[in-house]
Amino acid sequence: MRKQERFQAFITHFAESKPEPQTELHYRNPYELLVAVILSAQCTDKRVNMISPALFRDFPSPEALAAASFEELFPYIKSISYPNNKTKHLLGMARMLVDEFNLEVPSTVPELQRLPGVGRKTAHVISSVVFNQPAMAVDTHVFRVSKRLGLVTQNAKTPLEVEKQLVKHIPQHYIGKAHHWLILHGRYVCLARKPKCPECELTHFCRYFEKYHGL
Ligand code: SF4
Repeated sequence: MRKQERFQAFITHFAESKPEPQTELHYRNPYELLVAVILSAQCTDKRVNMISPALFRDFPSPEALAAASFEELFPYIKSISYPNNKTKHLLGMARMLVDEFNLEVPSTVPELQRLPGVGRKTAHVISSVVFNQPAMAVDTHVFRVSKRLGLVTQNAKTPLEVEKQLVKHIPQHYIGKAHHWLILHGRYVCLARKPKCPECELTHFCRYFEKYHGL
């Protein structure tokens, strides 16, 4: 199957089965999504959702968070991965929103990437989910699943390479959705250690399945 046909099959399947995919992080506004995405690095959305209600209740705005001390904020975050760094990042991010962005989450990727704790992936998630921009955020699920499906080449080494190959073939309108489709598929079906191929609906165009199940 040609690469373009794989992309077409991928988009057709999910556009029908999951037309409006959403992030599984809980949030009510751009500030809360930014906090949640920073916290979700190397951590599950489920775990972030367990701690975020208390965090959002007690630090409901960039201003409130910026006024917190490390010692005040750390207890809210201590049960997730890398709590020291994430506490520092959240404080730095909130202070920059107050000092340089008039309390608003910026809309462009370069501006977002200036915020502490915000790398290319996080900036693309915010840009895509909040501002509806055609930005592809590549996390571990997107990286793995897009390679297994054969949407990107097997020798793609970095998230940036994967991102470039994906956006080259996915129509702009579907880029944000495709990010969620790949994440959700990786989280629930195409698991890292043991993909659930027998119950997967993508076997007809999956390169991994073709290779290891002899189609
Ligand atoms: S067929 Fe298997 S390897 Fe391919 S996407 Fe589905 S679960 Fe993943």
